[in-house]
Amino acid sequence: MKRCYDTVVVGAGPAGSAVARDIASQGFRVLLLEEHDAVGRPLHCSGLVTARTLELAGVGDGVVRNEIRGAVIHSPGGRELSIGGDRVYALAIDRVRLDETMAVQAQEAGAELLLGARFLALEHENGLVRVHAERGGRRTSFLAKLLVGADGALSRVAKQLGVHRPDGMVLGLVAEMRAPGVAKDQVVAFVDQSLAPGWFAWAIPLGDGRVRVGTGTTNGVKPIDSLRCLHSRFPEYFRNGELRGFAAGGIPLWAPTRPYGENVLLVGDAARQVKPTSGGGIYTGLVGAGHAAETAVEALKREDFSRAFLSRYHKAFMADLGDELKRGADLHRLFASLDNRQLERLLARLGGDRLRKLILTHGDIDFPSRLFYELVRAAPALATFICTRLRFPGAWLRWRRGRRRAGRGS
Ligand SMILES: Cc1cc2nc3c(=O)[nH]c(=O)nc-3n(C[C@H](O)[C@H](O)[C@H](O)COP(=O)(O)OP(=O)(O)OC[C@H]3O[C@@H](n4cnc5c(N)ncnc54)[C@H](O)[C@@H]3O)c2cc1C
Repeated sequence: MKRCYDTVVVGAGPAGSAVARDIASQGFRVLLLEEHDAVGRPLHCSGLVTARTLELAGVGDGVVRNEIRGAVIHSPGGRELSIGGDRVYALAIDRVRLDETMAVQAQEAGAELLLGARFLALEHENGLVRVHAERGGRRTSFLAKLLVGADGALSRVAKQLGVHRPDGMVLGLVAEMRAPGVAKDQVVAFVDQSLAPGWFAWAIPLGDGRVRVGTGTTNGVKPIDSLRCLHSRFPEYFRNGELRGFAAGGIPLWAPTRPYGENVLLVGDAARQVKPTSGGGIYTGLVGAGHAAETAVEALKREDFSRAFLSRYHKAFMADLGDELKRGADLHRLFASLDNRQLERLLARLGGDRLRKLILTHGDIDFPSRLFYELVRAAPALATFICTRLRFPGAWLRWRRGRRRAGRGS
């Protein structure tokens, strides 16, 4: 019989490495399987995160390529909404380096990293889980008490668990190019339903005259067509710039799911822990990883890997970020329901001084619903843009109650 691990983690992305690190650091035997021969590659991310994310990752500024202090938003009709301040709102990072650094952390904590090892299937066996994998063309298997699926948007572990949902996936594409027209510290966003249906396109400056330009689509439009269209529509930014280093991937926006089963936990994209407003999944996946590791350690101490016990993980994650993700899902549906005329009117309203100031004060890419709430409170007319029913009204009511309580307390 092969050695029995306390935990096998599938996928050495940020979520997988964080879970592996946090379980191994408690003295448990952890195996981290990564299907590629190198961690972090191929790249499938624009690498825009908050400082809070790096803190959670336990990674220093070595991965930071540029500081972002504002944004320019282009409307379908050519309007420009410019929002900028002195504060650093976000960081453009070297995503490959982030993944590499976190995998090293996991190893330093005692986890064994096996590269070129692809998870194939799981099988329950006498209260344990047998993990079938393939490495170098040969099949192998490992026995574990717990399996953590951190294998990304198309998670095979989630499929085996019967909880993978192919719906609500944005197709994203990102490439690097020279774009001297983009300000050094401002992200550019392009909202236009004919350009990036149901989503948006973006350019993130890297501080050296290069940008990460990307786009997402939700209705079957190929992201490459969207990117070509962006390129030709905005020559002031992208003239003479050669697109390089394409990276594509599905972005599984958060939707209700069950990220656990008997002996199994899912984290990160595999658990759809992704902000529905921006598609950012590094912060939310790391929050998920923290809760998953906490539950896993407790389960290992008690030797209880039942589905009932592991459901604690999901409860803790939802208590932490659930309402924000629910409000984000509502905001995404509202945004996707607006046509170009409505988007034009919305951006015109947001361009006023008072609302711009609110955006500067409350803008936070990890918690976008808080800003939306403040905007509607300050300008109730914005509520006329709410053209679809909220799916998660309770999450908004809880936020409003919390705000009122905080107001009374101060
Ligand atoms: C175009 C695009 C742009 C994005 N931009 C941003 C951004 O700016 N900011 C942000 O926060 N998020 C962004 N995201 C989302 C972000 O990339 C993900 O949310 C994040 O990578 C999720 O981390 P993870 O560890 O869950 O999964 P991943 O990073 O996807 O890692 C999964 C790992 O599992 C491995 N794996 C998969 N299957 C197997 C298997 N069968 N066996 C073994 N290993 C396996 C993979 O090789 C990979 O290393 C973007 C996504 C896309 C597609």
